[in-house]
Parts: sequence; structure tokens; C-alpha cells
Amino acid sequence: MIYLCGGLKKLNVKNTGIVYGFMDGSLDFNPGNLTARKELLNIIQSAGKTDYYSYEVEQSHGTRIAVLDEKFKEAAKYNRNVFDKNDADGVFTGESGIALCIRTADCAPVLFAVPNNSGGIIGAVHCGWKGAYGGIIKNAKNVLTDKFNADVRGVLIAIGPSICRKCYEVEEDFLNLFLAKDNLNRKFFEKTANKNKFFFDLKGFIKKELILNGFSDKNIYDLNICNFEDAGFFSYRRDRDLRRQVSYIALL
Ligand SMILES: [Zn+2]
Repeated sequence: MIYLCGGLKKLNVKNTGIVYGFMDGSLDFNPGNLTARKELLNIIQSAGKTDYYSYEVEQSHGTRIAVLDEKFKEAAKYNRNVFDKNDADGVFTGESGIALCIRTADCAPVLFAVPNNSGGIIGAVHCGWKGAYGGIIKNAKNVLTDKFNADVRGVLIAIGPSICRKCYEVEEDFLNLFLAKDNLNRKFFEKTANKNKFFFDLKGFIKKELILNGFSDKNIYDLNICNFEDAGFFSYRRDRDLRRQVSYIALL
């Protein structure tokens, strides 16, 4: 199993009490696989602390962000692997011991970290074209500023394995949807060899949204892995099945 932790150093969250990772296809987080969820907790807990929870949002390609407070563990009780059916595509918390998990297979997992003296704030967002287009990054920013009083310029961000701009072919209707919103979005599209088809730069668009919402370019770390090209990861466009890789972030 590959546990990609290069980002830890890059994001400089070492020794801050924040851990995160991007798992590859050897751990299948398809919604029914409880074994994989238990295995992830074992991996995280091997770092020392026990009694972790995993928490997942429903991921409906929407834009809502959930917030977990101190009541979470009381409500979860003995259920260590919580799957929240309240429609949301992202989650933030300042509580320790909860691994926020995002399942993907082409969409981008975007992790947020704000290390501070009192523990920190963490977030995990499922970001496909629909969520990004619909404003999920703006909603994430609003949660950070309104609920956690965070300075967005200091937020560390990691973008995990997701489909790259050379592999994401879309129809002209898709391009037009983005142009109708803003003509400047054209720069995220490139003509393919196929008639009326275009390549879409999802990660480029997400970065634009992040910067537009006040996050700092220098704090955005792109893992630069294309899950479509790399057979070690799942890809819905390539495999057309329910297998999903997981990305997580937790406060120790
Ligand atoms: Zn690619």
C-alpha cells in the first residue's frame, strides 16, 4: 500500500498535530467496504493515538460544507466509521481524533489545514467540476472565516490524485456552460483531436477558485498525480465502476 506523505513536508504541517494522506488503489473506499474503513483507522492509529473516528460526507456533487463540533463524538458513540447522509461534499472541524475522508475516482480531493497553538482547523472537500463550478470553494472559505475565524491567506491546501488536463475530455456544451459564467474560463479548455471535444483543466480551475477566494498561491500544493493515467489509482472514466481511493486529514 502506498501512503503518500510527501505532502506533509511540503505543507510544513510536521509536528503540528495534523496528519494527512492520499491513499492509492490498494485501499478501495467504495461506499460498502467497511473493512477498508477499519483498515484506514488502523493505519492512522499506528502513528500512536487510538480511538479515531472516520467521517465521510455523502458526496452528491453539491456545494454544502458540514461542520463537526464537540457534539460529534457523543452522537457517533461507538460507531467509529461515520457515513453522514446529510447532503454535503465537504467538512471542516477543529476537533481532534476524527479523520475527515474524501472518496474520489477522477474528482479532486482538496485538503485544508490551519495549524495553530490550540490544535488547528482541518477540512476535506470533494471537488469535481459540478462542485467547483457551483461554488464549493467559496463555501469552504466562508466556513473558515465565519465559523472558525481563520485568515484564509494562512491556510495550507493540498490537492490530491485527480484527472489531469490531458485526460479530461468534455463536450462543447460543457465548455459553453463555463463560458456562460465567465469568458475567461476559456483558458481551462483546449481543443482535442476529436471534433467538438475539449480537454478541461479541473485542477487549474480549482486553483483559480481558491485564489479568487483569497487563498494564497504559495500555500497550494498540487500532488500532481493523474489517477486516470496511473494504474495504481482508480478512475471512474477509465474503469466505470464504484471503486474509490480515499484522502484523509486528521488532528492528532
Ligand atoms: Zn492525465
